[in-house]
Amino acid sequence: MVETTDNNSYDLVVIGSGPAGQKAAICASKLRKKVAVVERKRSIGGVCVNTGTIPSKTLREAILYLSGLRQRTFYGRGYAVKDNICMQDLVFRADAVMAREIEVIKSQLRRNRVAVYEGNARFIDDHTVEVTSDSGYTLLRGDNFVIACGTRPAHDASIPIDGKRIFDSDQVNGLQELPRELIVVGAGIIGLEYASMFAALGVKVTLLDQRPVLLDFADREIIESLCFQLRQFGTVFRLGEKVVNVGFDEDRDRVFAKLESGKTVHGSALLYAVGRQANSDQVNVGALGLTPDARGKLLVDANFQTSVPHVYAAGDVIGFPALASTSMEQGRLASCHIFGVPGNIPPNLIPYGIYTIPEISMVGPTEEELTREKIPYETGTARYAELAKGQMLGDDEGFLKLIFDPATLKLISVHIIGERATEIVHIGQAVLSMGGTIEYFRDTVFNYPTLAEAYKVAALDGLNKL
Ligand SMILES: Cc1cc2nc3c(=O)[nH]c(=O)nc-3n(C[C@H](O)[C@H](O)[C@H](O)COP(=O)(O)OP(=O)(O)OC[C@H]3O[C@@H](n4cnc5c(N)ncnc54)[C@H](O)[C@@H]3O)c2cc1C
Repeated sequence: MVETTDNNSYDLVVIGSGPAGQKAAICASKLRKKVAVVERKRSIGGVCVNTGTIPSKTLREAILYLSGLRQRTFYGRGYAVKDNICMQDLVFRADAVMAREIEVIKSQLRRNRVAVYEGNARFIDDHTVEVTSDSGYTLLRGDNFVIACGTRPAHDASIPIDGKRIFDSDQVNGLQELPRELIVVGAGIIGLEYASMFAALGVKVTLLDQRPVLLDFADREIIESLCFQLRQFGTVFRLGEKVVNVGFDEDRDRVFAKLESGKTVHGSALLYAVGRQANSDQVNVGALGLTPDARGKLLVDANFQTSVPHVYAAGDVIGFPALASTSMEQGRLASCHIFGVPGNIPPNLIPYGIYTIPEISMVGPTEEELTREKIPYETGTARYAELAKGQMLGDDEGFLKLIFDPATLKLISVHIIGERATEIVHIGQAVLSMGGTIEYFRDTVFNYPTLAEAYKVAALDGLNKL
């Protein structure tokens, strides 16, 4: 048992400074609790700020700008803002945004009087964590804990990742040069996002996945459109193909991926993106009597409470949907529950943003799910090519689809592919959360020209079908 002093004792100790940890800590602090966050990395912000969301999305913005991709509709296929784009051009912008984000987070934690400890936290008993850093170790006592230790890229001992020719998603921004041909192993969200970014830069991408279909939780029409557009960039899909060996051929100076079907795919570099492993092994949850699953995920109930009542877990360490957006809310709600403040997330109202090029966003069930559950529905679609704003932005392929109940006209879901999909989905999300009908879109005046106007066009299309 550790001696309790005012200095080392907290109402809440949070492990991890990613989105889940930050929001858990700030919420508790706003409830006037004494809070500590422990972060093992020198740089605060988690995967979200340092290797995941922020760097990848800033890289994407840099690619869209420098490649001049959207302008090509008007200025020709060869148009680019900069010739010979190199990794340094792309990463420069990401570094600037990351540095600013880190300052914002530090300042938020400071303003809210959250104590930040640098070091690796591990439980030594159910109310104590040991924090170890280069400068020694500290013991922290917590009445309550939120484990928000996140994930790392899942590795396989047989894949020779060197961070240069064979790399994982954490290492993308550290690449010295742009590959000419890239093999992407794993067509999940991260693999697809990077595949589309490199393809937009003119890199010849081959995408490999043992699953026969891409992103099975997304609308099929949207995914067909994504595949069509990625093929236009020259992307080759090899789905339903298991990778059995990855390596580097010194003689040919090429990487290769051998497939179970006997084929070999060659390239100048390979991105290995086959999912993520939770960091619960590094927190010693065994001291609490908790047993993570094979991917390190911790089991929690609807309030993010583990089977140890004063220990909660939030963010990627609890698994799907493993997004920064949901992690933040989970962290906040975990703190609310610990300190007796009501709150909940309606699961059917969580939006998903997939930042491929083109981007995808959705809220609510797909046609496939509704069909499986025998729920009648009708659809209304607006094509960006029919919208003045879509044309101005040079996006001829995008579309927005509303799914609604033909009897009551109540909105059921929204699915979008194309420019600013991840922004405009929130209009549909707001109407869904109010239980609104698609008549709202018909009877509302939208700014013109906007992409938001797609809602009106889609609603009229849907109503015309009845
Ligand atoms: C390439 C990529 C792109 C992504 N893009 C998006 C996107 O566009 N939109 C989106 O919503 N989400 C995106 N995500 C997901 C998003 O980054 C995660 O969902 C989010 O970061 C999870 O937050 P978290 O707080 O659970 O954990 P993390 O952000 O992983 O933070 C966990 C922190 O805990 C620390 N930690 C771990 N163990 C210990 C320990 N023992 N002691 C002390 N500290 C510890 C880690 O160092 C880390 O800083 C992306 C992820 C990746 C990898």
